[in-house]
Amino acid sequence: MSRNTEGLILAHKVTFIPGDGIGPDVADAAKRCVDATGVKIDWIYKEAGSDVIAKYKTPLPEDTLLSIKNTKVALKGPITTPVGTGFRSVNVELRKRLDLFVCLRPCKSYKGVRSKYENIDLVILRENTEDLYAGIEFEKGRDDTKNLIKQIEALSNKTIKQDSGISIKPISVSATERLVNYAFDYAIKNKCRKITVVHKANIMKFTDGLFLETARKTAQNFKTSGIEFEDRIVDNMCMQLVQVPEKYDVIVLPNLYGDILSDLCAGLVGGLGVAPGANIGTDCAVFEATHGSAPKYKGLNKVNPVAMILSGVLMLKHLGENKAAEKLEKAVSDIIAEGKYVTYDLTASRTEKGAVGTKEMADAIIKRVK
Ligand code: NAD
Repeated sequence: MSRNTEGLILAHKVTFIPGDGIGPDVADAAKRCVDATGVKIDWIYKEAGSDVIAKYKTPLPEDTLLSIKNTKVALKGPITTPVGTGFRSVNVELRKRLDLFVCLRPCKSYKGVRSKYENIDLVILRENTEDLYAGIEFEKGRDDTKNLIKQIEALSNKTIKQDSGISIKPISVSATERLVNYAFDYAIKNKCRKITVVHKANIMKFTDGLFLETARKTAQNFKTSGIEFEDRIVDNMCMQLVQVPEKYDVIVLPNLYGDILSDLCAGLVGGLGVAPGANIGTDCAVFEATHGSAPKYKGLNKVNPVAMILSGVLMLKHLGENKAAEKLEKAVSDIIAEGKYVTYDLTASRTEKGAVGTKEMADAIIKRVK
C-alpha cells in the first residue's frame, strides 16, 4: 500500500482487459474478488481480442499496450488467437512487445479439487520470449524457404527434405541469464528449497546445451543461498512429474517445454480451471490464467473463475498487498473445500448437477473474503 504526502492511501493503477470468449466472465469475477479484499485499485478498462478487430483493425490496439506501459500492471482475460490477421497470437505479441520475459505458473493442490495427487506445490518458470515460440518460421514450398534449405545444407553438410517447413529455435545467454536470476530471486523470496532446470541438451547442444550451461554458470552466483540446483532432461522430467511430483519445487524451462509442462502440472492439481499465471518483465507484469478463451462456453456464465481469481492473488502479491492476497487465496480455498458454490468442473460428477455459475462462485468467494 502506498500513501501520498498527506498520508492518504493511493490506489494502484491497473489496466483491466476482459479479453474474449470466456474472458469477460472470468476476468470480471477476478476483478470483483480483488476489489472485495479492500485494496484500492483504479482499474483502467482496455480492449483486446477477436471481438474488437472490426473496431480497431487489430486485436491488440496500441492504446491498450500504452495503458499497460503506463500502469505497469494488467489483469487480463484469455484471448483467442485470430486466424489471418498478421498476429500469430495476441498473447505472444503482448509478451514480446512488453518484454515480459518470464511466465510464472504456480500449480498447487486445493482440498476439494479432484485429482490423483495431493499436496502438490510446484512453480513453473517458463522463458517467454524466444525458442521455437520466437515466430521465425518458413513455409513449405516458398522461394525463401527453398533458399534457406540450400544454405543450411551447404553450411551443415546435412540434407533437408525439399517439402519441409522450417521453424527456428533461438536460445540466448542473455535471456537465459535473466530467467535464472529471476528464478533464484523468486526462490529466495518465497523460501523455496530447490530449482530444477529442464532441457534436451543431449540432443540440441547449441540451444538447450547453451541454456543448461548458462543456467549452471548463473547458479554459481547463488551458491550461498542454500537453494539446491539440479537439471533434468525434459522427457525424464515428464515421467518424474507424473511419478514423484513431490520431489520438485521451482521448475525452470525454455519456452516450448514450459508451455507443455505447464498444462501437465495443471493436470496434476485438477486442471486448467485452477491454474493461475503471470507474465513478468523488468517494467511491466500481466496477470492471466493458464487456460485459453474456451469459445464454446462464451457468455454462458459456466466456467471456473478460480484460475483467474488466483491470477488476481498473484497480482496482489506483486503489488505488495500480501495480506489481501492471503485473505483472497484462503477464501478461494475454503469455498472449493466446502464444495457448495463451485462450477461444474469441480462437482463430484463433473457435470452441472449441483454446480453454480461463474458469477455465483465469485459471489460466494467475495462474501467469504469480506
Ligand atoms: P482452452 O484453455 O481455452 O480450453 C480447453 C478446455 O479446457 C475447454 O474446452 C474447457 O473444457 C476447459 N477449460 C478451460 N478453461 C476453463 C475454466 N476456466 N473452467 C473450466 N474449464 C475450463 O484451450 P483451447 O480450446 O486450446 O484454446 C481456445 C483459444 O484460447 C485458442 O484461440 C487459443 O489460442 C487461446 N488461448 C489463449 C490463451 C491466453 O489468452 N493466454 C492461453 C491459451 C489458449
